[in-house]
Amino acid sequence: MTYRVTLIPGDGTGPELVAATRRVLDATGVDFAWEVQDAGLDAMEREGTPLPDRVLESIRRNGVALKGPITTPVGSGFRSVNVALRQSLDLYANVRPARSMPGVRSYYRDVDLVIVRENSEDLYAGIEHYVIPDVAAESIKIITRPATERIARFAFDYARRNSRRKVTAVHKANIMKFTDGLFLQVCGEVAKEYPDIAFEDRIVDNMCMQLVQKPELYDVLLCPNLYGDIISDLASGLVGGLGVAPGANIGDGLAVFEPVHGSAPKYAGQNKVNPTATILSGALMLRYLGEIAAAEGLEAAVRAVIAEGKNVTYDLKPQADDPTAVGTQEMADAIIVALRRL
Ligand code: NAD
Repeated sequence: MTYRVTLIPGDGTGPELVAATRRVLDATGVDFAWEVQDAGLDAMEREGTPLPDRVLESIRRNGVALKGPITTPVGSGFRSVNVALRQSLDLYANVRPARSMPGVRSYYRDVDLVIVRENSEDLYAGIEHYVIPDVAAESIKIITRPATERIARFAFDYARRNSRRKVTAVHKANIMKFTDGLFLQVCGEVAKEYPDIAFEDRIVDNMCMQLVQKPELYDVLLCPNLYGDIISDLASGLVGGLGVAPGANIGDGLAVFEPVHGSAPKYAGQNKVNPTATILSGALMLRYLGEIAAAEGLEAAVRAVIAEGKNVTYDLKPQADDPTAVGTQEMADAIIVALRRL
């Protein structure tokens, strides 16, 4: 079977990361037909918008996309291409696994978290205005029962499908009694439909402290948009940083896979940055497509290369200026060799 996938190189370091990931995914033996669609700064210059309709149409047609990071142009009228893409396609669930890997420097060894972040509402609804210009501004936080029900069901279904044991809802319902109170109430109601999965809740500030002190106690974290954004970066930090953090944005029948990190423009074109986050996003895509053996093989190959510590980029070396660090493409080559060996 051939999978048709929309491939969005992005900008900054995106194109080199996506090129490396494409080669690695092709080496898994799964058959892909890539439909390359530019978005971001180049598209902006050529077509007057960083997110042309043809990109959205391609994703709707194929159902699946792999995306490099995209710089948010300043002063274009677009708040963020990435947010616009998620909103246009109603990709309501943002999934970010954070798992310890031998060979990645970190204070922790046993972290295995999945952050499920609601992607469509909360303070990201973008409803804000000046009450008095330069003096007072107001931003509206939206939490609704339908959006909370669907993200809670998504988190519990994900937990069930992936043999996870516990879902923890993250909130601040002690202070925001209506918005976060509704979120917590609805998560609790949905939890009753999943008696095989444990359910608990944590207030977001306490959650942050607990994640730093004993992250091994937690499993799937179910978060409204803003807390999910912050907690998923915290979780990336627990397992070694942005270079190794993959992500997925999922809606009904549509999914876009992309690293958590941005376009790191200062390294663009230098064959320097770590392809792991984008390659592991590709592994998440393989899982989504049901290619579980290929996903597991790819994850094992990435772990083997990182554990060996030889053919890795500068950020995975003990010192950032280590002369033995390899480039983006060379690390991808080592992962392809490991794929064939394992
Ligand atoms: P960034 O993640 O691009 O980079 C911050 C720093 O993290 C880099 O300077 C680098 O030191 C390190 N880093 C990031 N990715 C790395 C990798 N793969 N390997 C090694 N080191 C890595 O964050 P930023 O500088 O705040 O954002 C740059 C641009 O990216 C902005 O325009 C922002 O809007 C955009 N952005 C896009 C996405 C997305 O496409 N989903 C996400 C976040 C930010």
